Amino acid sequence: MAQLDVREKLAILADAAKYDASCASSGTTRRSSAGGKGLGSTEGMGICHAYAPDGRCISLLKILLTNSCVFDCHYCINRKSSNVRRARFTAEEVVQLTLSFYRRNYIEGLFLSSGIIRSSNYTMEQIVEVARSLREDHDFRGYIHLKTIPDADPELVHQAGLHADRVSINVELPTTQGLTRLAPEKSAVRIEGAMGDMRGAIDDLSDAKKRYKSAPRFAPAGQSTQMIVGADAATDGDIVRRASTLYDRFRLRRVYYSAFSPIPHPSAVLPLQRPPLMREHRLYQSDWLMRFYDYRPDEVVAAADDATGMLPLDIDPKLAWALKFRDRFPVDVNRAPREMLLRVPGLGVKAVNSIVTARRWRQLRLSDISRLTVSVAKVRPFLIAVDWRPTLLTDRADLRSLVTPRSEQLELFAA
Ligand code: SF4
Repeated sequence: MAQLDVREKLAILADAAKYDASCASSGTTRRSSAGGKGLGSTEGMGICHAYAPDGRCISLLKILLTNSCVFDCHYCINRKSSNVRRARFTAEEVVQLTLSFYRRNYIEGLFLSSGIIRSSNYTMEQIVEVARSLREDHDFRGYIHLKTIPDADPELVHQAGLHADRVSINVELPTTQGLTRLAPEKSAVRIEGAMGDMRGAIDDLSDAKKRYKSAPRFAPAGQSTQMIVGADAATDGDIVRRASTLYDRFRLRRVYYSAFSPIPHPSAVLPLQRPPLMREHRLYQSDWLMRFYDYRPDEVVAAADDATGMLPLDIDPKLAWALKFRDRFPVDVNRAPREMLLRVPGLGVKAVNSIVTARRWRQLRLSDISRLTVSVAKVRPFLIAVDWRPTLLTDRADLRSLVTPRSEQLELFAA
């Protein structure tokens, strides 16, 4: 490997980390001020934003320890057979970079992942050493998110949890068949075993912390995972079911969906085209429905097309579900249970909470609802208020076109 200075390594290893969606946002246009024109850039890598356990949006230095890897996962730009420029930080270099960025107020924490060098244990030792040194040698109190390696010794993975706020283990593909085909050196059993161990340790140490003040904190921001979307044949229905199982079994804080993006020098087994970014967005919305709107996974899956198993791209899954199950509507805002109000397209959780509180004191009118939603025209077909009852609106053949947002408008899906 050529001798590189820290700045060159940072350029390579921050760029290599951009494929990890765990704290990334995607879908913006590419703009750059390199060359002296303008101010700011959407292309530069290295600092990303994530949400802290208290809901604050924080900036993280997002890098790989190295983009060299002994594995050859087909979808990964850092795979062994990829022809990319390689770089590797020492643990001490990452520590010093984090501290210097932190002192300059550029970041509030670190997101660290890595390709696998020498062995899973060796790599995990290096990752843990970064976190240990930051916490113990420098009393670093900022946020740390570590990607852990499922094949590493469980004790090393445990050490990661003792130093990090959040740990993540990627399931990579939504199905075991997809994983076997595209990442043959990885094992779904080992990945899920590591996630199970992590869940056990998080539960045990959070219980211990409640009883003993001196118990160590362990991954207080929990664990998360990432799935690549569109690299295999998994449908949205498959992905929704898998995500729901992962939430239930491992009590994950988040499942991240990363639309597969073609990489330079792609493997022949990969699709030539990336899936529409809107697909990733619809999956995040379906995830939101399960986590905050009390939809069961089979209900979200029912919003998908029966033949293809895919969620519609032109409308959000909540609206798709409502259009498919019109017999459940209209819903009376003055009487309906909270769970049915949450199914009204255009009503978000906050709006529903406000309705449930306000209707204790008085009967709600359509004008009351209009103050709680972006567009009352889109909500009207699905609800009854004291002065409003839709006349067979949910029976209209053209209802979908009436409520589908025009392309320049914001989503009907409520905030
Ligand atoms: S193990 Fe990780 S870094 Fe290595 S090829 Fe697979 S996905 Fe890429």
